Amino acid sequence: MRCRVCRQPAVIDIRRHNANFCTEHFLKLCRDQVAKAIGEFDMIDPSDRVLVAVSGGKDSLALWDLLLDLGYQVDGLYLGLGIGDYSHASRDHARAFAQQRQAKLVEVDLPTDYGYDIPTGAKAARRVPCSACGLSKRHLFDRAALEGGYDVVATGHNLDDEAAVLFGNVLRWHTEYLGRQLPVLPAANGFPRKVKPLVRLGEREMAAYCVMRGIDYIVEECPMAVGNKHLGYKDALNAIEVTSPGSKHDFYFGFLSRAAERFRSQATAEQAELHPCPSCGAPTTADTCAFCRLVVRAGGQAPVPVQLSTGPR
Ligand code: SF4
Ligand SMILES: [Zn+2]
Ligand SMILES: [Zn+2]
Repeated sequence: MRCRVCRQPAVIDIRRHNANFCTEHFLKLCRDQVAKAIGEFDMIDPSDRVLVAVSGGKDSLALWDLLLDLGYQVDGLYLGLGIGDYSHASRDHARAFAQQRQAKLVEVDLPTDYGYDIPTGAKAARRVPCSACGLSKRHLFDRAALEGGYDVVATGHNLDDEAAVLFGNVLRWHTEYLGRQLPVLPAANGFPRKVKPLVRLGEREMAAYCVMRGIDYIVEECPMAVGNKHLGYKDALNAIEVTSPGSKHDFYFGFLSRAAERFRSQATAEQAELHPCPSCGAPTTADTCAFCRLVVRAGGQAPVPVQLSTGPR
């Protein structure tokens, strides 16, 4: 097995590219694929201040590393979810990486700052944990970006994640989500721009990237993920990919180029209905936003309105 670029012994094969790579050229491929996604979808301008949502896992730490190496101004944001030992360990990985790269890590802690954690909050609000968690994360990433004066929030969703979410949305014909499932969502109505620069790279590649770069990430899955539908969709797509390499890529990028636009009108109509939440100021289509309702039902501290930053801190 030889590297496609230099013909030296290869360390990884990527079946959807029908090619093998040595360490040097695999790392270059990852950087090139991220740069290509950023350029192709106009995700980040060199003058932008970027906030990367960091979980301590392979994808978000690899993304942070890649964006730093590509020369972007990028800080990390770690959100403590109060999921026992898993949260403590993931926070330690995020902190260790920040220290190693001499990068700034912003930390928000749900139990300390908002008075609830995901397991008890989800139960009190009668939501499945991942639903309460996703809702909390989206709200707090937006808020931290606006308060810190960041132009863009970057998340570590990779090709496997996006293909699995798309698969779930198509399976149930959640057309309202299909119009928004894009690698870049522009800033609008009080939301910062959101980008997913890893959409051209798969889960296995991100794990390999971290190993080759010596990035110590949390390997354990979140204990709340057990029974999560998303994992089932990933397994189904992995089974297809074994016999038909490139299927995930074609499914997701085919959707972006040939179908996403058809679902835009529904997403645009929803955007037009947004108004500020009377409690926290975040945009919402309901009377009070879903995050504030979750906090109240979970017995936490209601968030105060967002204080916008006037510039870089
Ligand atoms: S698996 Fe679910 S609960 Fe755990 S971090 Fe992910 S979204 Fe949150
Ligand atoms: Zn090589
Ligand atoms: Zn609110």
